[in-house]
Amino acid sequence: MLSIIVPVFDEQESLAELYRQVDAVCKENSIDYELIFIDDGSKDKSWEIIQQLSHENQQVTGIRFRRNFGKAAALTAGMKAAAGECLMMMDADLQDDPAEIPQFIEKFREGFDVVNGWKERRLDPWHKVYPSKVFNWMIGRLSGLKLHDHNCGIKLFHRDVAAEIRIYGELHRFIAVLAYARGFKITEVPVHHRSREFGHSKYGVKRFLRGFLDLLTVTFLTGYGQRPHHILGGIGLFFFGLGAIGFTYLSILWCSMNILHLFPASPIGSRPLLAYSTAATILGAQAMSIGLLAEMIVAYNGRDRDTYSVSERTDLPTGSKPVSRIE
Ligand code: UDP
Ligand code: MG
Repeated sequence: MLSIIVPVFDEQESLAELYRQVDAVCKENSIDYELIFIDDGSKDKSWEIIQQLSHENQQVTGIRFRRNFGKAAALTAGMKAAAGECLMMMDADLQDDPAEIPQFIEKFREGFDVVNGWKERRLDPWHKVYPSKVFNWMIGRLSGLKLHDHNCGIKLFHRDVAAEIRIYGELHRFIAVLAYARGFKITEVPVHHRSREFGHSKYGVKRFLRGFLDLLTVTFLTGYGQRPHHILGGIGLFFFGLGAIGFTYLSILWCSMNILHLFPASPIGSRPLLAYSTAATILGAQAMSIGLLAEMIVAYNGRDRDTYSVSERTDLPTGSKPVSRIE
């Protein structure tokens, strides 16, 4: 079964039409589906329309948030409620075309865990299109997963992906990256993009700064989330080492002037190198202590989920009992 998850924030004009299109496509291709609308604190009539749709059609479910919690939260609530083996997310604004559903399912049947949409010809204003190209390129460089359109609203993924990755804040842009970091197989398919007919975009220019900060978060979490000391301690050691070299050089100089009298004595206290070495040593010691603190946090609190991801296993021999989990 396919669970279609649709985050909704003030989209009253599109909902009924979206349902109609999804239903038509799924019936035509005999896809067993459920449609889950998550009303993310809409102030318009969206919730009334969702209630109505859900009342009239048993495939439709509605979840209503008390206030606006953001797209990632809405998607998470949808994933938790989904019953299907295969989950699809889709924007409510009709910019994604439900007619694409079959080609996503085809890729899923080929064995991919995440099928990401790619708005090949994008019908958005230029100030969204160009920064987004730069953004996608940066994600590709930093994460190693090269996709054309990481933030595409339409994606399909296996329920295991939803169970293993955790999205919060605005991390919905990084679903494919987070899944890739856990070894899931990712692919993309080109999709038609339609321009927004009703309502307005919920994301302004702030998205770029936030997106960039989130990119740093995701790079850190997927690369060093389980071993923060390897990066913070590395940086710390580097600076500590620089400081130590500076101090050693100054000490040797001082000794050769004041003890061995190789040169005429001049004070070392006013040399810029002394200030640089002091700064580097403090910086290094600080980075190392923060690294150790981070390591303690991971060691004591970071074990609430597996740090690995299992794709398959053979059956256990009959009669044997699985080893109980070591707490
Ligand atoms: N959305 C949401 N909560 C928010 C912002 C957006 O549920 O806080 C939904 C919105 O209703 C739409 C989808 O997320 O279904 C994508 O939003 P939008 O179309 O505004 O983004 P854009 O297409 O401009 O990137
Ligand atoms: Mg949109």
